[in-house]
This record gives sequence, C-alpha cells and structure tokens, in this order.
Amino acid sequence: MKAVLDHIGIAVGDLQASLAFFRDALGLHVEASEEVMAQKVRATFVATGPSSLEFLEATAPDSPIAKYLEKRGAGMHHVALRVDDIEAALAHLKSRGVRLIDDQPRPGAERALVAFIHPSAANGVLVELKQAAPKVEMFKTVGRHTLGDLELITLADGFFALDGGSMFGTVPRVLWEKRLPPDDANRIPLSMRPLIVRSDRHTMIIDAGCGDKWDAKSAQIYKLDRRFHLDHALAEAGVAAEDIDLALASHLHWDHVGGFTKIGSNGAIVPRFPNAKYIAHRAEWEDATHPHERSRASYLQQDFVPLMEAGVLTLVDDGAEIIPGVKYRRSGGHTAHHQVVMIESGGETAVFTADMYPTSVHAPDPWLMGYDLYPMDTLGFKRAFGPEAIARNYLLFFEHDPSMAAGHLREKDGKRFVERLI
Ligand SMILES: [Zn+2]
Ligand SMILES: [Zn+2]
Repeated sequence: MKAVLDHIGIAVGDLQASLAFFRDALGLHVEASEEVMAQKVRATFVATGPSSLEFLEATAPDSPIAKYLEKRGAGMHHVALRVDDIEAALAHLKSRGVRLIDDQPRPGAERALVAFIHPSAANGVLVELKQAAPKVEMFKTVGRHTLGDLELITLADGFFALDGGSMFGTVPRVLWEKRLPPDDANRIPLSMRPLIVRSDRHTMIIDAGCGDKWDAKSAQIYKLDRRFHLDHALAEAGVAAEDIDLALASHLHWDHVGGFTKIGSNGAIVPRFPNAKYIAHRAEWEDATHPHERSRASYLQQDFVPLMEAGVLTLVDDGAEIIPGVKYRRSGGHTAHHQVVMIESGGETAVFTADMYPTSVHAPDPWLMGYDLYPMDTLGFKRAFGPEAIARNYLLFFEHDPSMAAGHLREKDGKRFVERLI
C-alpha cells in the first residue's frame, strides 16, 4: 500500500494564539478554514510544502477535539496519510487484524474521505487515512508562446474560489458542475493568470493577480491558495520585477490588480514593480474610485490609489495603443469600461480576455457571470467577438481558468468550445 504524509493535525483551543507562532513568527501561509459538520470541528490548513498542518478547533462541547483538549491539552493530535483507495486500504488493514476506529470511510475536510486507525495499533499515534476528493487538474506553472515578434508568457498568482452560481449567472449548476466541480461551500476553483508581453523594447505585464495585502478572514472567504504565486512564476519565467516597464490593467477589480501594489518595508503601500509605468482606463478609474453598493467589494482602493499618489499611473481611453501591436479594446459588460487586450504581431492575434471569458468553460455566448454589472453588454460583446475569434483563429488567454491558460475558440455542430494550447 502506498501512503503519503498528507498533514499533521494539531488540536488547538485558541486558533489565533497558535497562528501567532505558525503564521506571524514562521511566516507560513494560512489557507481557508472549513467546518466539518460530521466531526464537529473546524479545520484550518497551513501550507508547509507538499504536506500541511491542520489546526483543529472544536465546534461543539461533545466534539472529539473538545474531549481531547480536556484530557490532554492542546498539541499534536493525529498524523494523516493519503491513500489512493481508502476502502481497499481499510480492507487490507482489517485482514491484518489492525484495530480501527472507523471500518467505513466518512466525510472529512476538503471533500475527502477519511477513516481513523486506533492509536493502540500505531504506537500511540492516532492515524488518519485520507482519500482526496477528485480535483480539477490545476495548471500552475508558466507557459510560453511566440506571437510574431512578441514573446507571451502566462504566469500564475495562485488560486482562489468564488461561488459557482455567481460564476455562471443563469446557467444551472447541473450544466457546469461537471466541468468545474464545486466544494462543499459551492465554490469553484479559479486561477489568476497575469500575462507578460515582451518585445525587443518592453516587458509588459497585463494584470497581476490579487497580491498579498490580505487579512486571514478575506483569504478564507475567497479560499486563497498562493503557495505558488506571482513571485514564483516570475522567477520561473526569468523575469525580475525590476524588468517590468509597463503594467496594464484590464479593469481595476482586486483579483486583477491587487498585485499592482504591495506593503513596503515601512508598512506603506507602494508600487509592486519599481520601474513600471502603470496604465488603466480613465473611465474605469472614475468608476473604481467612486464605487457603489454593488461594486464596492470588488474595487479595493489600496490596489490602485497608491499608484496615482506615487505618480506612476497613466489613464488612457478606449482603443489606446499601449506598445506597437498591443491595444485596449472596450468590451464593457463586466464593468462599464472593462477592456480586453488585443495583441497582434506577424499576422497573428492573441487576446487577453480578462473577465469576458473568465474560463474556457465560458465559451458559449450566454454562459455569463452573475458578477457582470451589465450582462446584456457582455452578451453583445461575445456575440460579435466569438465569430470573429473563430474566423481569425485568435489565441485567447483565460485569466481565471484553473487548468487551461490559453486556447482557440472553436465551433462544431453549433457548439462552442475551446481547443487548448497552453
Ligand atoms: Zn472583474
Ligand atoms: Zn476577475
């Protein structure tokens, strides 16, 4: 039987007190918390390479964790080993007379199946077996493509998750859930993929992910997973933050421009790319700096106002040419002035579609996000753009697709789909 160390469970009475060491002093990344009803615990994972630490809090007085804390106090609780087939593993252990707590697997955190082995069978250690839930195959590395004289490098700033219903608007869950399986909280995994466009004179980045100015609560709501983030991706691509001389925003939502700024050494928020001229759309800037009740949670002022204050932000209008061959094209729809970026060189065209086609699953025209402020404008854009993209063989970049960075829009028997390239 193959068993891989998945995580070490630690029972805690006070999660914040534990995080003071593991997060604040050690600097480890805290992922989302999840309540596991069946076990009356709340689990919070902290990333430590291929394995993680799982902090367990009791959610009821009769929770096994409450009992454990009463008897033994806070500390190491169990070791979890990941197996491919938990039923087979349990059958194997039973046949060898190993004493089990659970003869049958039960639901655990992250939609996994788990079963515990009695500590008396394992030298006093409580052992959990875990079979991970089937996952969307995440594509988290960098991908390169040459387009005429330009080099395109798709990057990653980690993953997050949003409500699946909101991501697909009026499309029923039964239609999208097989393509992008949701978690127990109905959230689907999404990526943040900025794009580098390199010419002989410029190194431009389009969008920059959500950045790292996040508190634990928001990180939990959006299930941020930035074990592999933009710094790692830039290093893998061989691009230094200092090399970037242009940073272009599709629009000013946090999952697109959070990474334009960072917390500097003195605690002030400063531009992330020290030598870059930042570019945003003038009317989008107006909307972002005057948000209303529906848009306020998406526009975080700290992502872009510090750029203006630092004097590095330039505002441009529809159709602006950023560098030769690279142009804004207004889509509207998602926000009134949302832009896609048309990239042309050597007779070929690539398009950074941002939130017009957030994932390849959004290929059909009416598969629109509930987040769009003007969904009929998104539909209008896709009706015109879709046939054009197919006819001219545009290479589309999907900023939020968890498993595909870029591909070509195709149509067969009246059905739209994407043929993957990267
Ligand atoms: Zn957006
Ligand atoms: Zn977005």
